[in-house]
Amino acid sequence: MSTLDLLKKYFGYDAFRPGQEKIVNQILHQENTLAIMPTGGGKSICYQIPGLAQEGITVVISPLISLMKDQVDALQSLGVAATYINSSLTTDEQFSRLAEIRNGEYRFVYVAPERFDSNAFFSAINSLNVSLIAFDEAHCISQWGHDFRPSYRTVVQAVHQLRNRPVLIGLTATATAEVIRDLQQLLDVENNAVVNTGFARSNLTFQVVKGHDRQEYVTDYLKAHQDDTGIIYAITRKQVDQLYYLLQEKGFSVRKYHAGMSEEARKEAQNDFIYDNARVMVATNAFGMGIDKSNVRYVLHYALPKNLESYYQEAGRAGRDGEPSQCVILFSGQDITLQKYLIDQSEMMDEEKKKGEYDKLQAMINYCHTDQCLQQYILRYFNDTISSTEACGNCSNCDSDLEKVDRTKEAQMVLSCVKRMDERFGASLVAKVLKGSNDKKVKQFRFDRLSTYGLMKEMTEKELVSFIQFLVAEDFLVSEGGRYPILRLSKRALSVLTGEEKVYVQAAKVETTEVVAYDTEMFEQLRRLRKTLADQQGVPPYVIFSDKSLREMSV
Ligand code: ADP
Ligand code: MG
Repeated sequence: MSTLDLLKKYFGYDAFRPGQEKIVNQILHQENTLAIMPTGGGKSICYQIPGLAQEGITVVISPLISLMKDQVDALQSLGVAATYINSSLTTDEQFSRLAEIRNGEYRFVYVAPERFDSNAFFSAINSLNVSLIAFDEAHCISQWGHDFRPSYRTVVQAVHQLRNRPVLIGLTATATAEVIRDLQQLLDVENNAVVNTGFARSNLTFQVVKGHDRQEYVTDYLKAHQDDTGIIYAITRKQVDQLYYLLQEKGFSVRKYHAGMSEEARKEAQNDFIYDNARVMVATNAFGMGIDKSNVRYVLHYALPKNLESYYQEAGRAGRDGEPSQCVILFSGQDITLQKYLIDQSEMMDEEKKKGEYDKLQAMINYCHTDQCLQQYILRYFNDTISSTEACGNCSNCDSDLEKVDRTKEAQMVLSCVKRMDERFGASLVAKVLKGSNDKKVKQFRFDRLSTYGLMKEMTEKELVSFIQFLVAEDFLVSEGGRYPILRLSKRALSVLTGEEKVYVQAAKVETTEVVAYDTEMFEQLRRLRKTLADQQGVPPYVIFSDKSLREMSV
């Protein structure tokens, strides 16, 4: 039977997806292979088809106990003899499964990497005719991967000792160039046996939403997507609880999940979500590892994720079935403080590691500020040169009713100010100098004597900081140095200062709201309101005071 026939017979699909056929053929030609495919790209079939096509047993090493059972159930329902061995079984059960495996009762055996720590297990596997070993989530093998599992190292050493030298395949959806090189070496994969289809998920639409009341946004969003299934990620347990009760009160079909709940409660919530008894899951990042739900239509991030690695993984839980799905971040400046706090508080990390985490957080912030294609931004971050060449055309930056406004002059002011301050300070002090603040530090360094002092005093400090962050995001400025990053000019800054390059900002088309003040008291109230809004949202609300005489009192 050809591999295509097997695909039809067992899985009911008519054609291979990109990369699948090449991988299947390589394995059947006994070549060790590394497969890099996006989430939902169809990695399982890449080892399942060869496993069905050839003699012998396929051992799948998977870090996710919950996924093992699902995969085994799925294979069994297709009439394929499959089983798993992991710590969810009692020792007795493990022994009897091993005996069954020895009897040749199974074609596929899923195991957790920890099993290889035991010699008994290794010799059992070694006595069998194992023809293929698949490493699912292979990035866990590499210490450069974001999820390194030490016991994977033991497995790698062990499989190279196996008597009949099975073919090895590593599969992952997240691998930097460094991880790829490492995996190639560990699994003994030739350069031309690496199959990389890129990371692009063309069915996902990425959006960054700013300046909205978040609870209101979520409520409206859920109302508009009543029939869809989705996940809402928040940072803290408290945030999860609050949002959960709010949504429940409003009558949405919602469950919650975080590490503060009992195992039983978590399991129940998870099952309700998986089996469509509930539409919405509100959760911390504790939720999702090992969840293989194909019809998730949206993933909302209620707060800023800590880095793009986890963001892309969490957002990537949307649309695994290939149908159009949305990934939305609700951005608020306060989250930056919260995430920095969480890094500071972590006892798991030394200073070096913390610095790395700050830099990753900065890239995440840049994502929220960039005005380039969001999909491309992510792909570039992961060094995906295959699919990052074109803008996606449907993210909130590609497809927006925002206008481009020329802010070259303002950018030049900021850049010269950074330069005059000797590129030794962070965004907040630069903002203070441009604002013309009387701050102690400004005086101490005599920055009030600079020609750029007070140069942008018509903007608030907050607006200035957010404009500086935008310049960082667009690589006009570089922000480096961990907890208290310092600004310096990038290469691109020079071309802006010389006027070769222009700086455009996307701004909401100004929809002016006319507010008429009838007396001075009301005028004062409006003025305060305007300031509060500007402080909260970091953008000036477009309120125009229409009474001419009052307007002249200057806002
Ligand atoms: P991954 O492990 O890469 O995230 P999966 O192996 O779980 O992805 O596959 C995701 C979905 O795509 C599954 O529902 C799978 O059945 C489906 N799929 C895989 N290959 C094909 C194909 N050639 N045609 C159609 N659907 C496919
Ligand atoms: Mg998978």
